[in-house]
Amino acid sequence: MKPFIYDYTMEELQEWAVSQGEPAFRGSQIFDWLYVKRVDSFEQMSNLSKALRQKLDDSFSFVLLKEIAKYESSDGTVKFLFGLHDDHGIETVVMKHNYGNSICVTTQVGCRVGCTFCASTLGGLKRNLTAGEIVAQVVQAQRILDARGERVSSIVIMGTGEPFENYDATMNFLRIMIHEKGLNIGQRHITVSTSGIVPSIYKFADEGTQINLAISIHAPNDALRSKLMPVNRRYPFNDVIESLNYYIAKTGRRITFEYALINGVNDRPEHAKELAEVIKGMSMSSHVNLIPVNHVPERKYVRTSRNDIFNFQRVLTDAGINVTIRREQGHDIAAACGQLRAKHMESGTR
Ligand code: SAH
Ligand code: SF4
Repeated sequence: MKPFIYDYTMEELQEWAVSQGEPAFRGSQIFDWLYVKRVDSFEQMSNLSKALRQKLDDSFSFVLLKEIAKYESSDGTVKFLFGLHDDHGIETVVMKHNYGNSICVTTQVGCRVGCTFCASTLGGLKRNLTAGEIVAQVVQAQRILDARGERVSSIVIMGTGEPFENYDATMNFLRIMIHEKGLNIGQRHITVSTSGIVPSIYKFADEGTQINLAISIHAPNDALRSKLMPVNRRYPFNDVIESLNYYIAKTGRRITFEYALINGVNDRPEHAKELAEVIKGMSMSSHVNLIPVNHVPERKYVRTSRNDIFNFQRVLTDAGINVTIRREQGHDIAAACGQLRAKHMESGTR
């Protein structure tokens, strides 16, 4: 199969042009057609010679994302189930806010991390997405928004998959998204979320970007975290905290702790106290985002009551920790991580 044209960064397209005996700026023109004019065939790239367009066609293909299903929530959230060339299904969610549209992208077909509350990992990992397959989710959403004169203004890498286990593709995706001659998404409007793949956190700290990092912590200690997130046995709690301290020192940026509240499991006031104790040294450079756990039919977890969420929040706030409670969107269309795909796997889509 031919490689996807969306897999390539601006610099790689320029190198390709040069390797074909063309000037480097032909690569920039191709990038412009892909991300500014947003065409979906080489034929349409009318400022390139016919011969070069033919070469492109011989060498690359466009990613075909087949829209298998589309669900629209009453709050404006739209969730897509896209089919890939090998018939795997992936989810992409577009959320409408008063400041613009944010998109939640998927980085892997399934996930091997195995968090016990997550629908995405139920069938294990099928395969990594290529950079282009991640890029195509944004381009496709942007084409739909074009019709309304709107743009994708922020990106969260919080769909299915662990981005730091598909590191190179994720980084190329990010480089393409932030390029000022392309979609030009502000780095501070992009967040990558990880379950705590420690070596990748160090690597990401050294990339020198302004992209936000969120860490799925979900528990205040090793024992409970290992129960909820088997990845904690590979990369223990303290190693994760140490890598985050490195990240903060190196980048001077704030991090987000994601904490999904599960009734009776990790949501007691003593859990909040313990969490505050562990992260108070980072309180100037972090904040906690509390997420009422989404019910997954295959899992037995129940979400924390409103009242207990506020109690948990108060303990943290009193300890000087910044806390927000995630605003929920698209609840009526199962917009949570992996849920739509899980539903469709039952009905035959891989
Ligand atoms: N794999 C990465 C990013 C994708 S998941 C990660 O785990 O961080 C995005 C966020 O949704 C993570 O914080 C994840 O822990 C959380 N999540 C997964 N399943 C959930 C559920 N059923 N309810 C609430 N949050 C969930
Ligand atoms: Fe994978 Fe993230 Fe789901 Fe954990 S929460 S299984 S890391 S997608």
